[in-house]
Amino acid sequence: MWTTGEPSTAIALAAHPRHNEFMSGALGKRTAVTAAAVRSGDRAALARAITLMESRRPDHRAAARALLQELMPETGRAVRVGITGVPGVGKSTAIDTLGTLLTAEGHRVAVLAVDPSSTRTGGAILGDKTRMAKLAADPNAYIRPSPSSGTLGGVAAKTREVMLLCEAAGFDVILVETIGVGQSETAVADLTDCFVVLMLPGAGDELQGLKKGILELADIIAVNKADDFGARANAAAAEYRAALHILAPSAVWSPPVLTVSGLTGQGLKDLWSKAIDHRARLEALGELQAKRQAQDAKWMWALVHERLHEKLTSDPDVRGRVPAIEQALADGTLSPTSGADEILRLLGILP
Ligand code: GDP
Repeated sequence: MWTTGEPSTAIALAAHPRHNEFMSGALGKRTAVTAAAVRSGDRAALARAITLMESRRPDHRAAARALLQELMPETGRAVRVGITGVPGVGKSTAIDTLGTLLTAEGHRVAVLAVDPSSTRTGGAILGDKTRMAKLAADPNAYIRPSPSSGTLGGVAAKTREVMLLCEAAGFDVILVETIGVGQSETAVADLTDCFVVLMLPGAGDELQGLKKGILELADIIAVNKADDFGARANAAAAEYRAALHILAPSAVWSPPVLTVSGLTGQGLKDLWSKAIDHRARLEALGELQAKRQAQDAKWMWALVHERLHEKLTSDPDVRGRVPAIEQALADGTLSPTSGADEILRLLGILP
């Protein structure tokens, strides 16, 4: 629906610092119509808006910015929970069961994914609807796979915008899934209010392989598959509790360690009530707003980096010159510093 129109006007409008006052043109009307459809919970409109948000076309971008701006007052109300864990830990099974419990209680649940591997393969492996069969068929749930292009920062920033759209569409629970690869956990922790780490039962072994920093990020640790590995799950939970004690205690929140089963649902209500407790605690201390403000600043910079990266990879002058620069580097006639300077000059970053 945004494929025609006035791209140059759209860009000018969106780039204008007070563009809201200029939203009476064609773009403004279209934005208002789409915004109203999203607000009303129209799933097709939400899907179109998300596609627009994920597009790289400048006119789409301008329209997406205008739409987000328009919907901003309706955003921010959902409980935002990040969920991570190694492949096979049971994330999709747990999200499917937890999401279904929540929709049965009257919630509307959106499941988003940040999958760094999709930026390389072009395909999103997470958020695949077949992995969450119950939720995929649930009219009160919405599953969106990971955006599949750009840097991790760019993918996560796009996911953040999709999250805002889902909030405007009335989803009051946002679950953001990621696998424990690279920096994706930090990115998802920066998107959400509460970060849940799913662990496999296995006690000591798991602690050995624990990714550095994951305990610092976790607001809740849940040892999964407790249905099958009860005693081992309890032992693992005790190990994690002990490990958490070694960390500097926080005055705000001490992460609980639970045993759960995504398959049977055991412990998932408790997990959710801990997520709600966590949110209430942050809110009571004024920390929720502070956290979200700090996240906004991070996302602004992530977007700046993403755009710079895009400009770097798409600029025709740079693309034209890079082979010669790389050849000169290989021949030893150009130093890396001089090569970098030349590329930055082409981009207009160096005089
Ligand atoms: P993901 O890769 O983290 O999304 O993991 P999946 O949800 O796809 O689960 C991986 C495997 O573990 C599947 O074979 C599931 O059936 C199984 N599984 C997931 N959750 C549980 C659980 O709570 N208990 C048991 N026993 N198996 C589970």
